[in-house]
Amino acid sequence: MNFLNNRTDALKKLDNFIEKNLLEYTKLRNFDFGTQNRKNTSCLSPYVTHGVINEVEIINKVLKKHLFSKSEKFIQEVLWRIYWKGWLELRPGVWADYLMSVKTLREKYKVNKSYLNAIEGNTNIQCFDDWVKELKETNYLHNHARMWFASIWIFTLDLPWELGAEFFLKYLYDGDAASNTLGWRWVAGIQTPGKHYLASEWNIKKFTNNRYEKIKLNENAKPKVSTKVYSVSKNDFSNSEVTDVKTLLIFDNSLSFEFSDFKDIKCNKIFIVNSNEIRKISLSDSVIKFKESLLQDQLKRLKNQSIDSEIIKIKDIKKYSDSVYALYPSVGDSLDFINSNELKDIKFLYRKIDQLSWQFCNKGFFNFRNYIPKIIQSIS
Ligand SMILES: Cc1cc2nc3c(=O)[nH]c(=O)nc-3n(C[C@H](O)[C@H](O)[C@H](O)COP(=O)(O)OP(=O)(O)OC[C@H]3O[C@@H](n4cnc5c(N)ncnc54)[C@H](O)[C@@H]3O)c2cc1C
Repeated sequence: MNFLNNRTDALKKLDNFIEKNLLEYTKLRNFDFGTQNRKNTSCLSPYVTHGVINEVEIINKVLKKHLFSKSEKFIQEVLWRIYWKGWLELRPGVWADYLMSVKTLREKYKVNKSYLNAIEGNTNIQCFDDWVKELKETNYLHNHARMWFASIWIFTLDLPWELGAEFFLKYLYDGDAASNTLGWRWVAGIQTPGKHYLASEWNIKKFTNNRYEKIKLNENAKPKVSTKVYSVSKNDFSNSEVTDVKTLLIFDNSLSFEFSDFKDIKCNKIFIVNSNEIRKISLSDSVIKFKESLLQDQLKRLKNQSIDSEIIKIKDIKKYSDSVYALYPSVGDSLDFINSNELKDIKFLYRKIDQLSWQFCNKGFFNFRNYIPKIIQSIS
């Protein structure tokens, strides 16, 4: 699996997938055929996470070629990501608590043998050890492998989910505060209380196309329990009036400004913000490099349009206070930095699809799913 660090590659991947593989997505998406055969899913997540291509573009391209009824499952998955984002936006305390727990657990487990063996891929559970290697080498794992991995980590190796989520964030090109934290919580059984995901030998065997067998797992574990309840916050995601934009900030979740809702805004200067120096979870060199080259790719595209733009470090945004707007960075490191430095002069701009969708994220995904036709109608 090879991820080139530019929008051109992302679009090529998308077009190819829509043309050749999308119609088989529902039937084949759960199979992890191995690193050499990744055609059954789109492998777009490293680009979607960074906004190199966005969900609206994807959905509109899909619907131009296929009927909704033939592409529904894929569109649902694309919107699942927005659902997780919205869910976390309405309960930002989940991210804050996760960061606090991971800090404590990191200290507690730093010489724990089982933990060290897990992150080195020395567990003697062959499939798990292979996924550790694959994650470190390719910075990607298939969705089903992520579920199995998280489940084995939590229920067979008996390790805290928070450290597993940290391990994923460190190495995944698509590492994302919402999808990752909530994905791990979901496997553990605390996202939907009492419902956990238990990996089993037959399921891994079947969906890896018999690449693995004789896998000894704890297939009877009980869900993890959390007593913490998060109430839904009343956030306002409406855009302030856009006038006289002196400075526009773009974070590493919105790297296709020229195809965004805000492409027609006239501003004096765009700063593309590099947040890598303030990460609470340290990223691997490969992920840092990937992110930095995506920032460069956005800069190049803006320059090609003769837009005055520059990459700056996040700490430097403190220098700007006069008429500063920012494409909303979402719950995560960049927003934490803005909040903890009380940079209240920054006015956020929210994407239309997020404004539309996040209002339906107060309940579960099955409820959200009912609104998908309405959401699609409003964006296409
Ligand atoms: C424990 C765990 C951790 C995860 N961590 C992340 C993460 O950090 N970042 C991330 O983007 N995804 C994460 N996922 C979700 C999912 O595994 C990946 O989005 C998916 O595997 C990406 O591959 P793809 O692009 O080929 O997906 P496709 O199947 O082609 O789906 C198309 C797009 O839909 C979205 N999508 C698909 N499945 C999901 C899902 N279950 N949840 C949210 N969005 C989804 C992605 O943007 C994806 O690119 C995690 C899942 C689990 C179980």
